[in-house]
Amino acid sequence: MALEIVAVPVLSDNYVWLAHDPASGETVVVDPAVAAPVLDAVAVRGWRITQIWNTHWHADHVGGNADIRQATGCAIVGPAGEADRIPLIDRAVGDGDIVRLGAIEAMVMDVPGHTAGHVAYHLSSEAVLFSGDTLFAMGCGRLFEGTAAQMFANMARFAALADQTRVYCAHEYTQSNGRFALAVEPDNVDLVARMVAVDAARGRGEATVPTTIALERATNPFMRAATVDELAARRAAKDMFRG
Ligand SMILES: [Zn+2]
Repeated sequence: MALEIVAVPVLSDNYVWLAHDPASGETVVVDPAVAAPVLDAVAVRGWRITQIWNTHWHADHVGGNADIRQATGCAIVGPAGEADRIPLIDRAVGDGDIVRLGAIEAMVMDVPGHTAGHVAYHLSSEAVLFSGDTLFAMGCGRLFEGTAAQMFANMARFAALADQTRVYCAHEYTQSNGRFALAVEPDNVDLVARMVAVDAARGRGEATVPTTIALERATNPFMRAATVDELAARRAAKDMFRG
């Protein structure tokens, strides 16, 4: 049986991801901003949380750590570069480390820029990437603690993953990202088509994630930036963009 992945929408636009491995019965929570809706979501499914994986230290990614640990006794995995800011961390991980959900392996990728120690979790056997606030649908994270050169390198690494890889990012920013992307590349036919679908989905109140690496390669202006300078200029323009 395949890994089951469920979104728990919380706060204004966060997605907390639950990944359940039926073979082992393990369930991991990725970036629990809060605890209560996450605990409710596992309870209705009869699942048991065994792990938390954090991508970075921001409160809307770790805010539920303590209460979920209290309720479940789960193990907490987070970025080594930010271990002192991850509540109740048990295992600090960095690039190339392997974390396991049952028999499923996730490789840790260091993807700094949004924060200095940000990590992503790549489950290659499942073609799944948990990208936190580094790669979004048609966007990338703001550069709070890192550089455009770092983000450019991150985008190149993500672009090299398999086409069909499903990307589970931590926010529903797709519509505003897409408006910016269209301002950058108004003649990109894949982008124009994608935004028609995104606007329709949002109109129905539906989530627009996960996305895929293939879709991002075709439509994400940060992944499509040809140089560090181009990515830097686009990131600066997006910070000011009111679309
Ligand atoms: Zn963040």
